Amino acid sequence: MLIFSCQKKKKSAKFKVVTTTNMISDLLHQIGGDSIEVVGLMGAGVDPHLYKASEGDVTKLTTADAIFYSGLHLEGKMVDVFEKMNKSGYKTFALSDGLPEKNKISSANFAGNHDPHIWFSVENWRLAAKYVTKQLSTLQPQNKNFFEENLRTYDLELKSLKEDLNEIASKLPKEKRILVTAHDAFSYFGKEFNFKVVGLQGISTTAEAGTKDILDLANFIVENDVPAIFVESSVPEQTILALKSAVESKDKNVALGGTLYSDSLGNSGTPEGTYLGMYIYNMSTIVNALNVTE
Ligand SMILES: [Zn+2]
Repeated sequence: MLIFSCQKKKKSAKFKVVTTTNMISDLLHQIGGDSIEVVGLMGAGVDPHLYKASEGDVTKLTTADAIFYSGLHLEGKMVDVFEKMNKSGYKTFALSDGLPEKNKISSANFAGNHDPHIWFSVENWRLAAKYVTKQLSTLQPQNKNFFEENLRTYDLELKSLKEDLNEIASKLPKEKRILVTAHDAFSYFGKEFNFKVVGLQGISTTAEAGTKDILDLANFIVENDVPAIFVESSVPEQTILALKSAVESKDKNVALGGTLYSDSLGNSGTPEGTYLGMYIYNMSTIVNALNVTE
């Protein structure tokens, strides 16, 4: 039972922001710089669909000056926590609220009817950065110029990221742009960079893939001559390994193309521990593994 009573907040020197996924932590670092302290609940490799708030997390949340989460039911087991906190007057912000309706991909089979993996659209992430800047500027008006300057710098980096990603993708002919992964996290990626994407599990990882799902996808891989499929760092690899075996039982080889960062960045302190590094790594891994000539 989670109770959000009015607690006396410890006066700490820095404005404390609590985030859920490490993509959001990275974004808050980019915009807030050293004027804020960022406490992320989910580390590298943690699946946000399945994550439940611990007692310790609740303490972190209730002593935060502001909370930023992704929204659209990405944090499926924490929706109630955020709603209750919001009603109790805590400053909670969903990044998805910074996106216009047309930028969200509809998904009739998922809670809330939207695909929550919004960060795989660079354009959406630019809007999320603007949204974070706006909220931080309201919370800390004395640092507004600092946040806006950081946004200008980061927005240029995001624009240049998109150019770099398009350049890497351009090496892969259109007919080879088929991305098969563990779960449906890459629809925004597919839309922005013109790939057909197929996930073995659905949009959330809560529903496990059944034998029929595996066989259907194995047939798809054989029919479309897909050379590689991908593991995700935040999803156990068993289902992708089962898919690989199912393809091989049809006398067709399919490689493991590598591990992609889907719902979590890599370890902090590594290039893949940032949004920019994660995206370059993912795109290069995908293009290299699919760009084979038989
Ligand atoms: Zn996901």
